[in-house]
Amino acid sequence: MRDFDLVRPASLAAATAAFAAGGEAAYLAGGHTLIPAMKSRLRMPDALIDLAGLDLAGIVPDGKRLWIGAMTRHADVAGGASAIPGLAALAGGIGDPQVRNRGTLGGSIANNDPAADYPAAALALDALIETDRATHKADDFFQGMFTTALADGEIITRIGFAIPQRSAYAKFRHPASRYAVVGVYVADHGNSWRVAVTGAGPGVFRWAEAEAAIAAGGALPTLPADDLNSDIHAGPEYRAHLCGVMLKQALAGLV
Ligand SMILES: Cc1cc2nc3c(=O)[nH]c(=O)nc-3n(C[C@H](O)[C@H](O)[C@H](O)COP(=O)(O)OP(=O)(O)OC[C@H]3O[C@@H](n4cnc5c(N)ncnc54)[C@H](O)[C@@H]3O)c2cc1C
Repeated sequence: MRDFDLVRPASLAAATAAFAAGGEAAYLAGGHTLIPAMKSRLRMPDALIDLAGLDLAGIVPDGKRLWIGAMTRHADVAGGASAIPGLAALAGGIGDPQVRNRGTLGGSIANNDPAADYPAAALALDALIETDRATHKADDFFQGMFTTALADGEIITRIGFAIPQRSAYAKFRHPASRYAVVGVYVADHGNSWRVAVTGAGPGVFRWAEAEAAIAAGGALPTLPADDLNSDIHAGPEYRAHLCGVMLKQALAGLV
C-alpha cells in the first residue's frame, strides 16, 4: 500500500467534488474489496473518499419496491429485508460475519464481481439502481466482469428491488471465500419469472430459457457450457451442471 489522502465528505456534492479534485480517487464503502486491492497494489488511489458520512444506509418499503441504501451492510439486509425473504437469506450467506458486518450493498453492486451474490438478486428482482445523477435498470447496469454503467465518479445512493410474490437464491459456495462457484436467483413476479445466474460466466446474466420453461410449466433446460468460466475451482461443464442443480434448489426453496 502507498500513501493516500482520506477525505470524509458530509454531502454527495462534496464527495463528487473531492472525486473530481485531481489525481486518482476511489470511493470507500465497506472496504472489503477495495482495501485488499490496495494492499496488493491492484488499486493505488491518491485519495480515498469515505462514503460513511453521507447517510446512505437504511431499508424502506415503498409500494411495490424495497429500497435499500447503498451503505447498508450485508448483516442489516439479512436482518431487515423481511419484505423479500429470499434477498435477506442471500445477504445472510455472504462471506463470514466480519464481511457481513462491514461490506455494503452499494459496494457489491458497484464492484460487480462476476461471482458476487447481490448482482443476481438485482437482475432477478428487476432492480432500479439510483445514483447521484441517474436511475439505471439492472438489465442495463451490469456490463460484464467488474464493469457497470456507472460513469467516473458516479455514486450509487440506493437500490429499489421489485417485491416479488416469491423468490429464492441457491448458491454452490466456494468453501474458503463463500463466493458463488455458481449462484441462481429465481423470482416469481406473478405474471412473469426472472432467473439470474452469477459465478458461472464472465458476468451475471439472465437465463431466458429457464424463465420461459418455468412460466410454461415445462421441463427445466440445461445451460450450454460454451461461454462459462473455467478456473482452478470448476470447469465449464461442471458449472453448467451446477446451474441446473441450483435452479432446482432455488425453485424448491421459494419464499
Ligand atoms: C473474505 C471475503 C469473502 C467474501 N465473500 C463474498 C460472498 O460470499 N459473496 C459476495 O457477494 N461477496 C463476498 N465478498 C465481497 C464483499 O461482499 C464486499 O463487501 C463487496 O464486494 C464490496 O463491498 P464493500 O462495501 O466492501 O465495498 P468497497 O470495497 O469499499 O468498494 C468496492 C468498490 O465499489 C466502489 N463503491 C463502493 N460503494 C460505492 C457507491 N455507493 N457508489 C459507487 N461506487 C462505490 C468502490 O470505490 C470500489 O471500487 C467477500 C469479501 C471478502 C473479503
